[in-house]
Amino acid sequence: MAYRKCEICGLRSGRKDGMKRYFMARFPLDELRCKEWVKVAGNEDLAYLPIQKLHQLKFVCGKHFINSDFKKKGTQLKKTAVPSIRLTSKPLTDSILAEFPCHLFKEQQASQEGFQLIKSGGPCGLMP
Ligand SMILES: [Zn+2]
Repeated sequence: MAYRKCEICGLRSGRKDGMKRYFMARFPLDELRCKEWVKVAGNEDLAYLPIQKLHQLKFVCGKHFINSDFKKKGTQLKKTAVPSIRLTSKPLTDSILAEFPCHLFKEQQASQEGFQLIKSGGPCGLMP
C-alpha cells in the first residue's frame, strides 16, 4: 500500500510525491480500546475484522483526537486515546459489537467441538 487511509474521514496520507503526510494512528491491539475505536469509526465492516488485521491495515488520522490525547511531543498518542472529534458516522450499536472480537473465538470453539465429536464418535462402534 502506497498510502494510509483514515477510516473515519477518508483522508489519505502517503509516501508518494505530491501526497501530504499526516499523522496516522494504528488501531490499538488492546481488545477493549480497539472495540472503542471500531465503535466510534461507525463502519460495520471493521467490526468483522480480527484485531490483528485492524492493527496492521487500518488507521485513524490525527484530526479525530483532542490535544490531550497526545503525548507531549505531539507525535504519539497516549495509550488511553480514543477518537472523539470530527466523527463522520454514528457510532456502531452495542449489539453489532456484542461479539467483537468474535471471529477468533468462534473458530476456536468450532474446532474444539469438532474434536469432541471425533472423540465421542469412538464408542459408537458399540452401538447396534
Ligand atoms: Zn480522519
